[in-house]
Amino acid sequence: MTECRILVLLGAPGAGKGTQTTKLVQKFRMKYLSTGEALRQKAGEDTLLGNQARESMERGELVSNELVAQVVRDCMTDFRDSTGFILDGFPRNRSQAELLEEIAGETPIWVINIRVDEEVVITRLSGRRHCVECGKITNVNFSPPRQEGVCDTCGAKLVQRPDDFPNVVQRRLQVYREQTKPLTDFYSKKGCYFEVDGNLDTETVFERISAHLTGEESLAGNPHLSAGQSSA
Ligand code: AMP
Repeated sequence: MTECRILVLLGAPGAGKGTQTTKLVQKFRMKYLSTGEALRQKAGEDTLLGNQARESMERGELVSNELVAQVVRDCMTDFRDSTGFILDGFPRNRSQAELLEEIAGETPIWVINIRVDEEVVITRLSGRRHCVECGKITNVNFSPPRQEGVCDTCGAKLVQRPDDFPNVVQRRLQVYREQTKPLTDFYSKKGCYFEVDGNLDTETVFERISAHLTGEESLAGNPHLSAGQSSA
């Protein structure tokens, strides 16, 4: 079995964590968890926890650490069986960072901070639309669909996520500044921390992250993250 790494993608909402996670998973065959995606699923359930999650998310607040811990523990049970496990959107505050240390144990945690200007985030999130059928994400500010409000791929309706509404985006950014951004200090002091300029285009950001990962691995004489390697 190859040695495992936990890769944390930090960054403001709209920094491109989800997009980069998808590309990293394809290239390095790592497992991943997006807490935002997992919590949106929970929020769709008519249970006490589901309703609490939905209310927090619709206000742009963080969901309770208890529910997040449950989701993360459930998804990370076998993370050591893989070459790497990417976390998109977790941790988001100090207490979650401590939980991650506990779950990781001896497994190294590598942090990539995707730094992005707030104006860029606002333009990205205000234009983001999701297809209700196939889930494809379109940005009406950068690549508008051929027909307004209609998915180019499957022809279903495009909708805006409630937490991408402008007032909620402002609150999400405030929560990010207050609770998540301080984690950049926490991790930069620990080493294994890399910053990338998320204002650049998706491909450039991806190339920089990939080069960092492969470069660091070979420096360590440990080529487990070489492209195309399959996870266990
Ligand atoms: P995201 O898709 O990562 O932008 O997350 C969407 C929303 O899910 C956030 O605004 C939070 O309400 C919630 N969320 C995602 N990850 C976490 C987390 N680690 N802790 C608390 N809430 C979270």
